[in-house]
Amino acid sequence: MTDKFTVQRITSIRAWTPKLFSFTLERPPAYRFEPGQWARLGVQTPSGVVWRAYSIASANYDDALEFYSIVVPQGAFTSQLAQLKVGDEVLIEKQPYGFLTTSRFQLSPPCDLWMLSTGTGLAPFLSILQDPQVWQDYRQLIIVHGVRSTIELAYAKEINALRQHALFGEYCAAHPQKLVYLPCVTRESAAGALPERITTALQNGNLEQAVGTPLDLTASRIMLCGNPQMVDDTRSALKARGFTVSRSAKPGQIAVENYW
Ligand code: FAD
Repeated sequence: MTDKFTVQRITSIRAWTPKLFSFTLERPPAYRFEPGQWARLGVQTPSGVVWRAYSIASANYDDALEFYSIVVPQGAFTSQLAQLKVGDEVLIEKQPYGFLTTSRFQLSPPCDLWMLSTGTGLAPFLSILQDPQVWQDYRQLIIVHGVRSTIELAYAKEINALRQHALFGEYCAAHPQKLVYLPCVTRESAAGALPERITTALQNGNLEQAVGTPLDLTASRIMLCGNPQMVDDTRSALKARGFTVSRSAKPGQIAVENYW
């Protein structure tokens, strides 16, 4: 029987804060995934291999696989992962998983793609944002990132730089609001950021006002990822407005991923 996983080396590590870091792994040659999917990663610990789900942050055409991670104090997986160095080994299941992908949605243009995230829940949207197809398919790409303080706004520069990207820059030149990046920073004031939680901003209308686009049952497709409280509260607020979770038998407007 062949193993369900391969062993890959860490090729780079980038610390954002003492509790947030990104790392890249060598990509197994046969590893294919849809932007928005997650990988099962394993690390060796004194009591055996511990496995956890990790959204893939890199583009599905990149040579490496990138991940964006929290460090949970005493967390079985992350306390071990955080000690690894470039060249150390991580296990990865050969099969990617997950349904937080744009193929979940029926597309009846013109549609806007809303990606609402907290913390490391930004990761799958980084991959989706690098997919040339979504730039072609959607009228607007709206990425909202909820964090406590500005130092947690990882990838802000990279997201803004997509406007000049060789593959997608032309869309932004033609339509300056093609990509909207809206941080929500709850514990300090930050220029250009909403000072409240995503759910609050959705309920009081500030989210749509800041983006400049209304949420609309026919034109909005909405993805939620990260903290289960944000996901549940936001999903409930959207359901109260008539939005439904998209299922293959009954297409809707919402797709969600809870991280714990
Ligand atoms: P655990 O024992 O797994 O978790 C302990 C506690 O830490 C949880 O109960 C929760 O309160 C908190 N916690 C766990 N994960 C997070 C988090 N990401 N942010 C804030 N608090 C957290 N984690 C990532 O860091 N990056 C990812 O891209 C990512 N993708 C995921 C995709 C899916 C589909 C799922 C289900 C989870 C994902 N996670 C991700 C969470 C990840 O699987 C682990 O839970 C996390 O790495 C912590 O592992 P741990 O063993 O150290 O702690």
